[in-house]
Amino acid sequence: MSGLVGRVAFITGGAKGIGLACAQALGRGGARVVIADVSADDLKSAERDLGAEGIECASAVCDVGDRTQVEAAVDFTVKTFGKLDVAVANAGIVRAADFLDLTDADWDAVIRVNLTGVFLTGQVAARQMKAQGHGGSIVNISSVNGVMAIPTIANYNASKGGVNNLTRAMALSLAPHAIRVNAVGPGSIMTDVLRQVVADKAAMAKVLSRTPMLRAGDPIEIGNVVKFFASDDSSYITGQILYADGGRMA
Ligand code: NAD
Repeated sequence: MSGLVGRVAFITGGAKGIGLACAQALGRGGARVVIADVSADDLKSAERDLGAEGIECASAVCDVGDRTQVEAAVDFTVKTFGKLDVAVANAGIVRAADFLDLTDADWDAVIRVNLTGVFLTGQVAARQMKAQGHGGSIVNISSVNGVMAIPTIANYNASKGGVNNLTRAMALSLAPHAIRVNAVGPGSIMTDVLRQVVADKAAMAKVLSRTPMLRAGDPIEIGNVVKFFASDDSSYITGQILYADGGRMA
């Protein structure tokens, strides 16, 4: 089956930006989706938007850095839609400061959400998929900044580099259970985070100067890659990191 009809997907950080676009792409492919996020208000409007498109969805308030909350959100998914086939570990934050000024709090916050959150989401989802016995697909959202470095986001660089190798270790561990694990590494994608940065014209020029396709990506251009990894179109692919970045890593 190349579509996702009959599949159930769980997406963290799904209330806006790339996470919401993942929910749209998977939902348009036929999946029923649960979006999980810390922002209850954004979840409500996202659920309305997805519902208006005819996508069957539900939402759960969940902080991905807290195991109990991740377990509760995955349980909610299974109670609501009967099972879990796809998990997208997308929630992520940025706390920028030059390396010499980076505080312990900025370091801890980014590692907690971007790396521990991916670990918790993946482990809780994989345990559920293993118990079901019919495999599954986990997609982690990394970044070009997991490989490239920027001096003002050392915490983010470290978290996304961690996500890349965590993806490979998870893929090896889960392959015998037919659970595939891949990552998508976006370049500059036009979400609220980037909108704030590029409010300044010079900053936008800098983004474009390092993007061969000379434009920022649309969140749905990440959602569609996630859909590929979620579906049987990628049935023999696991442990891979695919950069959707307008040519930046070329
Ligand atoms: P965004 O800020 O638009 O959305 C992130 C969502 O995650 C928000 O809804 C937020 O409430 C939620 N979130 C934050 N902390 C959370 C937590 N502890 N638990 C659950 N949800 C939480 O950001 P985005 O640009 O859509 O980024 C999504 C992912 O894509 C992140 O992992 C980010 O690092 C990655 N990424 C983004 C870009 C880009 O250019 N936008 C580039 C590369 C990678």
